[in-house]
Amino acid sequence: MGTRGREIVGLDVEKLIDLLNKALADEWLAYYQYWIGAKIAEGPMRGQVVVELEEHATEELGHALLLVDRILQLGGTPLLDPKEWADKTNCGYEVPEDPYVEALLEQNIAGEQCAISVYQKIAEMTGLKDPITYNLAVQIMTDEVEHEEDLQALQEDIKLMKKRNA
Ligand code: FE
Ligand code: FE
Ligand code: MG
Repeated sequence: MGTRGREIVGLDVEKLIDLLNKALADEWLAYYQYWIGAKIAEGPMRGQVVVELEEHATEELGHALLLVDRILQLGGTPLLDPKEWADKTNCGYEVPEDPYVEALLEQNIAGEQCAISVYQKIAEMTGLKDPITYNLAVQIMTDEVEHEEDLQALQEDIKLMKKRNA
């Protein structure tokens, strides 16, 4: 941890670390939800859906990495025990009990919408008080916005296909 780097943060650093740890729990749960969803998916356009889910899983893991790096930089301890994920999460975990592609997309879209709100909040509270975390939040939020759009586009295509075939 860099002492000056921590000093310049014009916020309660411990509180900020906690928020970043909560987001870290979200990212791991999102990672697993995508990863396992890609394995079990079935239904129309499965191939395309699986590619997208796998891509997103990898990107969520990348977000976890960014968050851990920042937590360490701030002198914090990243969540060490996966058991904490369920307590810390903002966005929860939707068990993909129905493997049908549309059901999976629905769950993952809800997750992305929650993630967008989480990073929006972190961006709002940091801003110029902590431009580094602000930047991180905006960077991750940019991916989450893209994720939401990718999933909604697939959802639309599946709907269109079903309408044409009806
Ligand atoms: Fe993410
Ligand atoms: Fe995402
Ligand atoms: Mg994508």
